[in-house]
Amino acid sequence: MAWFRREPAPLAPRTSESRVPEGLWVKCGSCKEILYRKDVLKNLSVCPKCAFHFRVSARERLEMLFDGPWEEFDRNLVSADPLGFRDGRPYKERLSAGKAKTDSWDALVSASGAMGGRPTIIGAMEYGFIGGSMGVVVGEKVTRCIERALDEKRPLVVVSCSGGARMMEGTLSLMQMAKISAALARLHEARVPFLSVLTDPTTGGVTASYAMLGDLNIAEPGALIGFAGPRVIEQTIRQKLPEGFQRSEFLLQHGMLDIVVDRRELKKTLVRSLQLLMD
Ligand SMILES: [Zn+2]
Repeated sequence: MAWFRREPAPLAPRTSESRVPEGLWVKCGSCKEILYRKDVLKNLSVCPKCAFHFRVSARERLEMLFDGPWEEFDRNLVSADPLGFRDGRPYKERLSAGKAKTDSWDALVSASGAMGGRPTIIGAMEYGFIGGSMGVVVGEKVTRCIERALDEKRPLVVVSCSGGARMMEGTLSLMQMAKISAALARLHEARVPFLSVLTDPTTGGVTASYAMLGDLNIAEPGALIGFAGPRVIEQTIRQKLPEGFQRSEFLLQHGMLDIVVDRRELKKTLVRSLQLLMD
C-alpha cells in the first residue's frame, strides 16, 4: 500500500521571512526591497512596497485592534501536561520556552477592551508559542471568551494563527474543537456576533472548528488557510493542486471566506461589520 512506502520528503524551506526581523533595516521576503524597520512597523508590519503581510504577535495584534488599553483575562491558565509527553524534548520544556519567548502561558491572549468605541472581547493567537497550536488551554480560553461574550452581550473577535491541534496533548486537543463549537452555537442562539479573522497560517483543527464558524470569516491577504497541508493532499489524491490553492484569495473565490482584507483596513472592516450586525 502506498502509504507504507511513502518516502519522507523534506519540508520546502520558507522562501520568505514571516516576521519582521530585528535590526535597523529589513529585507522584504516577498519583493526583496530593503526597508527601514520602523517604516514597516508603522505600517502595521505590512511591506510598504508590495503589501506583503509579515506575521505579528498576539499582543501586537491586540494593540492594532483595540482603541486603547485592554484588560487581559485568564492569563495564568497553563497546561498540566496530561500525557507527560516528550518528543526529543519534554513538553514541559517546550511550554517554558514558549513562555520565555512570548510572555504568555499559552498560544492565545484573550482580552476585553473597546474597538471602535464598542466594548469587545478579542482573542488573538500567538504563533510564537508552539506554532500557535491548540491544546486544552487554548480551547478553554476560547471557550471562556465565548462565555464572557455571552454573559456581557459583547461581540467576539478571534484572530487565528495556528498550525492546528497540539499533538503533545493528543486527543484532548481534538476535544477542544467540539467544546468550542458547542459554545459558539450558544453564542449564535443569543445573537451575539462572532467575527473570525484568519491570518497566515490557519490550519488543522483550528480551521476545522472556530476559525470557519464566524458570522463573518475574514482573512488577511495571502494567508495559508486549510485543513491538511498541500503536500498531504497531493499525495492522497495524486493530483497537482492548482496555483494559489489554500491561499485566502483562492478560498474567497470558492466561497469559503466572506472577505479578504488588507491589515491596514482590518480594524475599520471589523468595526463596520459589527455596526451592521448589531446596531
Ligand atoms: Zn515587499
